[in-house]
Amino acid sequence: MSKTYIPVILRRQIKEAANHCCEYCCVPEAVSFASYHIDHIISEKQGGETVFSNLALACRLCNLSKGSSIAAWHEFREALIRLYNPRKDAWHQHFQFRPSGLIVARTEIGLGTIRVLNLNDLNRVSARSALIDAGVIMEG
Ligand SMILES: [Zn+2]
Repeated sequence: MSKTYIPVILRRQIKEAANHCCEYCCVPEAVSFASYHIDHIISEKQGGETVFSNLALACRLCNLSKGSSIAAWHEFREALIRLYNPRKDAWHQHFQFRPSGLIVARTEIGLGTIRVLNLNDLNRVSARSALIDAGVIMEG
């Protein structure tokens, strides 16, 4: 959660840049029961600023799961791997949708982000599957 006030015009810019979808799980805000949060990609706790290049639109579940995290522990490498950055990375470079609603990692960054943000929680996969079936979000 942001501690700093985010001006309305900046919120609008972020929502438009995100095409009104969560920039992590891709679910549109229009089908959510709760308004989306503005996420500090690099958390304020880690020194992230409240500027366009460090803000992303995130659904409640992604934002709460991410918290102030900026990296994920990679067990085999015994190293921290940064999380996906919606302002610097292309979503499809790191992730792929399956028709089942599952999000599959294409990279280590994607793998760690899926784990930290709990993107493949059973309920979330089920909801995305229904949204894919309805043509609201595209697989692939
Ligand atoms: Zn999300």
